[in-house]
Amino acid sequence: RKRCIRISTGSKQLDAALNGGFQTMSINEVYGEFRCGKTQLAHTMAVIAQLPKEMGGAEGKVAYIDTEGTFRPERIMEIAERFGVDPDQACENIAYARAQNTEMQTELLDGLAANFATNEYRLLVIDSVMSLYRTDYVGRGELSERQQVLGQFLRRATQMAEEFNLVVLMTNQVMSDPGASALFAGVDGRKPAGGHILAHASTTRLLLRKGRGEERVAKIVDSPDCPEREATYIITTGGIND
Ligand code: ATP
Ligand code: MG
Repeated sequence: RKRCIRISTGSKQLDAALNGGFQTMSINEVYGEFRCGKTQLAHTMAVIAQLPKEMGGAEGKVAYIDTEGTFRPERIMEIAERFGVDPDQACENIAYARAQNTEMQTELLDGLAANFATNEYRLLVIDSVMSLYRTDYVGRGELSERQQVLGQFLRRATQMAEEFNLVVLMTNQVMSDPGASALFAGVDGRKPAGGHILAHASTTRLLLRKGRGEERVAKIVDSPDCPEREATYIITTGGIND
C-alpha cells in the first residue's frame, strides 16, 4: 500500500496551518490575485519535493506543466542553494513542459504517465490550470464545452495523484474583471476561474493575498482535514519562507 507523504511549502507557519504541508494523493488549488506568490510557491515546492523527508521533502522528482511561460530555472537554482542542494541537480530532477493550448495541456498530462510509472515522482505542478481554457474557450456559448473538457482533465489529474502517490499543485487566478467573473465563475468579482468543477475537484484550496508590506497571507479553504485558518509568509530569494 502506498503511504501518503506531506511536502512542505517552505513556510513553517503555512505548513502548520496545513497540518504539515500538501499531501500526496490529493489535488490542491492555490488561487489568488496576480503577484501574490503562486508561481513562487510552485518553484519552492519543486525544490522541496526533492529533499529528504526530514527536511519536509518526499525524495521525489517533479513534473512541471507551465501554461504561462513563467518557469525560471534560475529561481530553482537560488531556492536549491537555500536548502543546500546542487542547483543543477535540482533542475535536472524537474521534467518541464510548456503547454500552448488546452489540447497540449491534456496531452502533456497523459504523456507524464510514463514518467510517473517509474515511481520516482512525488509532485506535479500545473501553473496555471485555467489560463489556456480561458483563451481557448471564449464566451458563454463555449462555456459548457469548456467545463466538460476541464472536468476530464481534472479527473485524469485526480486519478494520477492517487495512482502515483503525487501532490498535484494547481495554481489559478482570481479574475479581477467582474464581467468575466460573472460569466465564468461567480458574480462578486473575487472568485477563482473554473467555477464549481475546479472547486469540487480540489482536495485543499488555498487563497493567497497580499498583506502588509512584504507580508502575504494564505487562507485555507475547503480542506478535508484542516479548519479554515490563515497563515502568513514572505517571498525571498530562497523561495517561500516565514
Ligand atoms: P500571477 O498571477 O501573475 O502569475 P503569481 O501569484 O504567480 O502571479 P509570483 O510570480 O509567484 O506571483 O510572485 C511574484 C512576486 O514574487 C513578486 O512580488 C516578486 O517581487 C516576488 N519575487 C520574485 N522573485 C523574487 C526573489 N528572487 N526574491 C524575492 N521576491 C521575489
Ligand atoms: Mg504566476
